[in-house]
Amino acid sequence: MSENTQRYLVTSALPYANGPLHVGQISGAYLPADIFVRYLRMRGEDVVYVCGTDDHGVPITLTAEREGKSPKEVVDFWWAHMKETFDRFGISFDNFSHTSTEIHAENTRHFYEKLKSGGYISEAESKQMYSATEGRFLPDRYVEGTCPVCGYKEARGDQCDNCGSWYEAYELIEPHSKITGGPVEVRETTHLYFDLPKFSERLTEYISGQEHWRTSVKNFILGFINAGLEKRPITRDISWGVPVPEPSFEDKRFYVWFDAHIGYISSTMEWAERIGEPDKWREYWQEPDTKMIHFIGKDNTVFHTTMWPAQLMGVAEGGEEPYALPYDVPANEFMNLEVPVEGERRAMQMSTSRNLAVWLHEALDKFPADPLRFYLASTLPETADVNFSWRDFQGRVNSELIGNLGNYVNRVLSFVGKYFDGELKRPENLPDGALAAFSDFKEIEARYESRMLDERPREALSELLAMGRSANRFFDASAPWKTRKEDMELTGANLYVCCAMLGSIAYHASPYVPDAMERLRTFFDGPMERITDLDLPDSYGTSGAKPLFARIEDEEIEAADEKLARAVRGE
Ligand SMILES: [Zn+2]
Repeated sequence: MSENTQRYLVTSALPYANGPLHVGQISGAYLPADIFVRYLRMRGEDVVYVCGTDDHGVPITLTAEREGKSPKEVVDFWWAHMKETFDRFGISFDNFSHTSTEIHAENTRHFYEKLKSGGYISEAESKQMYSATEGRFLPDRYVEGTCPVCGYKEARGDQCDNCGSWYEAYELIEPHSKITGGPVEVRETTHLYFDLPKFSERLTEYISGQEHWRTSVKNFILGFINAGLEKRPITRDISWGVPVPEPSFEDKRFYVWFDAHIGYISSTMEWAERIGEPDKWREYWQEPDTKMIHFIGKDNTVFHTTMWPAQLMGVAEGGEEPYALPYDVPANEFMNLEVPVEGERRAMQMSTSRNLAVWLHEALDKFPADPLRFYLASTLPETADVNFSWRDFQGRVNSELIGNLGNYVNRVLSFVGKYFDGELKRPENLPDGALAAFSDFKEIEARYESRMLDERPREALSELLAMGRSANRFFDASAPWKTRKEDMELTGANLYVCCAMLGSIAYHASPYVPDAMERLRTFFDGPMERITDLDLPDSYGTSGAKPLFARIEDEEIEAADEKLARAVRGE
């Protein structure tokens, strides 16, 4: 790596290993990170991109009990399913781990011991629901009852889905076990707590100094800290999770919000081990000039900006484990679905329990990854909630991906193939208008670059489309279908300029539609680079060019819409 290289550690939120991935999750934490990482790699930056499944927590054990499986069976199945889906979609993790590994348990214990010796861990009694018939404490989501606020009968143990109130499970009226339906009672239990309030000042100082953070994220979290942090329980009465290294806590496990984020480190260690440089993970976590960037959905903001940096600060004390703090936490908004209901198109919240969602593995059975990536990238919820719509998918793919970018590649390469035997020599002099076109292109390129480095791939994509329009304009103005009858030299010179722009469009399109750009390499012979860096080559060549993308047909969209409509009707 050169001296000018920037080191990055990029993560995507750890998904719970208890079900398939839907397009909302993908838009929040995975696709934007992947596009960003692919761009950094092309620039030659030093980047490691890690993720993994969150194998612990109540969502996993609930799934296991519902399906009559062990938690381990559930997480192994869904880990493999997710890994395959991410691969098919082209998410290019350097390592995809999971949190039920031994290395992760060791890391969690290590964090715990460090925080304990720093004086940040304490014990306290709390009230918890206990099922005498099941002989165990029940975490909040295992308990249901009548909402103490609105009287809704099927309120969850921690929150009412009807009125949205938050409460403790023991405040429910007639609480009962979600698994057996049997009665539950309140018992005292002892838990370990992390002293988050001790970090209030340091967190405020750290977050206030992050000039590059999204304003919405920064203001939200400063307000949250200002309202007063509380000690957080870090253990639970549950038998699945990382064991707690304390004699009286043998039947308890760490709470996921204590161990999940540590999974990013465990995954980086696994990567370092695999490449045969077991200590290399430290460069990415413990060198202060690393840019550590966590891509997440907005529901994960609080933990990534309070609990997690506080854990890192606590462990870093004393200087032996000098953990750096996150450089940025781009939190994306939510994606809703546009569904055809009773003759109109309505925006609805995705619901995994009603199967009202667009599952990524199913979408990939119908469409290649590239058009899906392109559409999702063009609607990323960077600043506000967005709607996923199959009709919009069709419109954008056909008009922008194909009509603008794909069409440009086709037009240029078919002319070069047909009238120049697939090879264009560099002209002695660039034709009129070429320098102006290049300079227009360079400006767009600079905007693309700055938006991408701001972790805004959706905005960078609109610059890519501007490049396509600019290149199409040059092609149209040079009118090769006309000039080839009068002046082949001029036609060739203009097409040479078109090829230079084509190479640059391909470079900037690669993070979005990587498969198509790989295919393009097989029939386009010329540099795929930024115009700004381009040394004009001696020639451009092409042979066997094929269209890069297939149009999305009405029937395909009608079928996809009908599937959602059936879910709405409960069929
Ligand atoms: Zn309620």
